[in-house]
Amino acid sequence: MAVTISRLGYKRLSRIIFEWQAADRAAMLALFMVMDVSLHWLWFLFVWLRRGVYEAYVDMALFYPLWLGVSIAGLFFWWMMSRLTRSKVQDAYLYKWQIVMITIYSIYIAIVVVVMGHSSLVSGVSLVGGAMLGMMLARRRYMWKAFLFHIIVILAATLLPYLGFYLPDLRKMTLAAIPIDTYSYLTYSEMTTVENALVAPIFHDGAIDWNNLHQLRLSSSFFWRSTHMYLALPKAIFIVYMFRTLLLIIDKSKAEILNHANQDELTQLKNRRYGLSRMQQVIVAVKDKQDFSVILLDLDWFKDVNDNYGHEAGDQVLREVAQTLKSALPASAIISRYGGEEFLIVLPNTNHDQALIMAEHIRQSIAKQEIKVDEEVNLGVSASLGLYTLTFNELNRLKEDYLAVAQSNTSPTTPRRFRIRHTKSKIKKVAQLEDVARTICQHTITTADKALYKAKDQGRNRTVSANEIFSKEHMIV
Ligand code: GH3
Ligand code: MG
Ligand code: MG
Repeated sequence: MAVTISRLGYKRLSRIIFEWQAADRAAMLALFMVMDVSLHWLWFLFVWLRRGVYEAYVDMALFYPLWLGVSIAGLFFWWMMSRLTRSKVQDAYLYKWQIVMITIYSIYIAIVVVVMGHSSLVSGVSLVGGAMLGMMLARRRYMWKAFLFHIIVILAATLLPYLGFYLPDLRKMTLAAIPIDTYSYLTYSEMTTVENALVAPIFHDGAIDWNNLHQLRLSSSFFWRSTHMYLALPKAIFIVYMFRTLLLIIDKSKAEILNHANQDELTQLKNRRYGLSRMQQVIVAVKDKQDFSVILLDLDWFKDVNDNYGHEAGDQVLREVAQTLKSALPASAIISRYGGEEFLIVLPNTNHDQALIMAEHIRQSIAKQEIKVDEEVNLGVSASLGLYTLTFNELNRLKEDYLAVAQSNTSPTTPRRFRIRHTKSKIKKVAQLEDVARTICQHTITTADKALYKAKDQGRNRTVSANEIFSKEHMIV
């Protein structure tokens, strides 16, 4: 696939990062290098066109060889881009080419850092942004090495001049008359400070006249600051755009993965893990005067469906029953496949009477349903349901009882003197609440399961309420 600038939109970029081959991604990296070098090349062109003015600030003895170097580097990265795009490069070769490309680009940027100033925006953006962008598209360990190399270059560029080594500098000061031999080394920023100090007298009462302003604009520091902005800001914007895209992709794929982890593949309902964890959340979050109900539903004689019509037919029954559950229940119901042919339905903020009506509604809907397993066979199935409603008062009583038990097991013996202990105890409380929710969840399901068992016992295709059995049997839950 051809690598072009038109592929940098969000959607296409996500595809590239996820789906493209390593060779295509490396070609994309080469394209970014071409874009970076092109910006530099245009800067050279601009300075050359206005050389009458700018040769005062730019060391022209360095300018031409550097321009040549930039042109060659640009052509090289361009060639790299088209070569990697076209090739079905074998992995070993691809990695070799990545090493070549990253090494040349690193040396290129190192030269930029040295001749343009290691403390400039340009080197900052190249150092951090370049390395991170590279890690998205090429082998991370090469990028890591290139990054370390740049750190060394920056340290060297800072220290060497103080040790008496001359480092070439493309920047030339307008103020040539500074008695530079009095110092072993004068950094560019020190020179700019001097320059700023010298232009200070042209301000009178905080104002400056047009002529002087023009002079100031022509000062080398203004010129070089603008150059640094020009070379760094577009690159920074581009890199941040790339990262934004990457983070959006990560968010999206995280949501997809989570969805996948919670989904039951056969029925497209939520799975048992999700059903239970949502139920625990509901238990924790129950508000004043809200009851919540749970239904366990098990298909009747389902083994016979498999035995008589085959496993495929059984799967189809499960899928269609799942659809019926979805359409017969309100959107607030949390429906999950609890086991083979068993479904768990959690009904937040639903009292016993409402839950009983819903349970009967789904039971009848399933019983009415005709499932066409092949041309000749229309299957009918039925389900047994166990229902249990935990009233708000009952839930609160259980929460308090279990919480008291949990706290008596872990109560701290030393006084909480420090804030940190206080925070720890808060965390502990949350953990205890989660434990309590888990226990109540188990208790609720076990109770609903007892009712389901009764429904099977009484002949199937019916709903049995645990609350009703318990009140009849005068059992205290
Ligand atoms: P009862 O009315 O007492 O619930 O009888 P039953 O036959 O439904 O109960 P039993 O638990 O004996 O059988 C459940 C069957 O469900 C056994 C198993 O083969 C089948 N089953 C479980 N998961 C799947 C599945 O994913 N697809 C298919 N086709 N069958 C499944
Ligand atoms: Mg069954
Ligand atoms: Mg079963």
